Amino acid sequence: MPSNNGPIKLGIVGVGKIVRDQHLPAVAKDREYHLVAAASRHGKVDGIPNFHDIEAMLDAVPELEAVSLCMPPQFRYDAARTALMAKKHVFLEKPPGATVSEVEDLKTLAAANGVSLFASWHSRYAPAVEAARAFLASASIKSAAINWKEDVRRWHPNQEWIWAPGGFGVFDPGINALSIATHILPAMFITSAVLDFPENRASPVAAQVTFRTSNGLPVTMELDWLQTGPQSWDILAETDQGKMVLSGGGSKLAIDGKVVHEEPEAEYPMLYRRFAEIVHASVSDVDLAPLQHVADAFMLGKRNVVKAFFD
Ligand code: NAP
Repeated sequence: MPSNNGPIKLGIVGVGKIVRDQHLPAVAKDREYHLVAAASRHGKVDGIPNFHDIEAMLDAVPELEAVSLCMPPQFRYDAARTALMAKKHVFLEKPPGATVSEVEDLKTLAAANGVSLFASWHSRYAPAVEAARAFLASASIKSAAINWKEDVRRWHPNQEWIWAPGGFGVFDPGINALSIATHILPAMFITSAVLDFPENRASPVAAQVTFRTSNGLPVTMELDWLQTGPQSWDILAETDQGKMVLSGGGSKLAIDGKVVHEEPEAEYPMLYRRFAEIVHASVSDVDLAPLQHVADAFMLGKRNVVKAFFD
């Protein structure tokens, strides 16, 4: 449980790319936190005690109040369960788990242990997302399209877990798009999907998904992990107020070609601010809509086998 008088004593688990790129810089600048320990089989954080696993960290550092779990999704549930049972607040990297039901279980465990659970969706905190949400709320939407196309070799080199079952493949970035779409568009559900699986991989390299909103509007989603050259992380909408383009993963908003919102991103500082807020308010923040859509795409989608993928 957090002491009410001082920074939250935090431990980080799974020290890899996202911890180095985002978590450590965000936590270092935030007075709400004191990073006191880390647990990882190989990765280390300088200047604090490091442990092989979360169990050893919790045993050795009982004053820990919260943990950020940054390992791949397939390995998050056990660590989260251990932390919640020890009455620590838990920050889950995205995607919050490998299945919807395991995250539901974590929600129940958090409530039973009187601690906060945060299913973080970093893309929701991209700078132009709230402006896009406000624009769409004031307009009549006719259709929407999500185009999320990037080069897996550039962004995920040597990440074998991402191609394994539960690694989500192209839905690892695709779920970022869905975390924005489920925040700015009306409720929607999948009507059809085609998932392209390389013949030597267990997860898809591309997907074409169609949704319908509850009031019948069409939404399409194109995911592609083989895009070289310019990368696209865009959500478009045709509306009675003009054509909206939310580009750069949520960082820039244009209406009818005119940029109306653009500012530098601060996604992880905002995630940590939100985590402190829910810890202090003794509530959880777990929205499973993006994960549910990915599960539905795997459930409903037609599987296409495409040529082998090599790094
Ligand atoms: P990563 O560097 O490949 O993995 C993070 C760390 O998790 C690894 O360094 C490893 O540390 C630990 N790990 C790997 N396999 C494990 C296992 N079987 N059991 C326990 N720990 C294991 O991946 P990442 O890019 O940081 O991504 C981690 C999570 O953050 C993913 O869910 C991803 O979607 C999310 N994320 C990534 C990015 C990005 O740009 N990379 C952006 C936003 C969110 P040890 O070997 O030291 O245990």
